[in-house]
Amino acid sequence: MNTTDNTAPGALTSLRALGGQPDSSLAALRRIAAEQARLLRDLLTVPVPQTPARLSVLIPSLLIEYITQLPTHGIAFWARPYWHIRISASDPSARQTFTVLHQFKHIIDHPLRQRLTALGDADWEELADYFAGQALREKASPDPSGWASDTSELQAATPGKGGTKK
Ligand SMILES: [Zn+2]
Repeated sequence: MNTTDNTAPGALTSLRALGGQPDSSLAALRRIAAEQARLLRDLLTVPVPQTPARLSVLIPSLLIEYITQLPTHGIAFWARPYWHIRISASDPSARQTFTVLHQFKHIIDHPLRQRLTALGDADWEELADYFAGQALREKASPDPSGWASDTSELQAATPGKGGTKK
C-alpha cells in the first residue's frame, strides 16, 4: 500500500548508521560528524542556498519552517509524524543554511544523545556546529562568531508517548 509520501528509507538512516558504534569520546564523535557531513555533501548536490529545500526532499520526515519572530536562530523538535526545524525568517540566507544543518545534526544525534549521557549540552552543540561547518566546507561559511549561540533548542518529544495530538 503506497501512500503519497513515498519515503525512500534513506538519508537519515544512513547518516545515523555512521554513528552506529559509538565510543563516547568527543574525538570519535567529531570523526563521525565529519563522515556524516561528507556523506551529506554527496547527497545534497545543489548550491548552498538550496540546501534547506534539498534536505527536505532527501529527508521526507523533515519539515523546515521559516518563522518570523523566532527568539533564536533555530530549533528542532519531533511532532509526529515529522521532525520540524524552525528557522528565523529574519536571518540572512547563509545563516539560515548553517542553522538548518546545525539543527539537522541534532536530529541525527537524537537517538545517540539519549544513550551517551556522559556528554553535556555544550558537547552536542559543538558537534552540531562542527557538522554544519564541515557540510559547508569548500563553500561559503557564515561568521564563526555566531555559531555557538544556540543552546538547548532541541525539544525532543518522544514518539509514541501519546501526547502530541495535532
Ligand atoms: Zn544546537
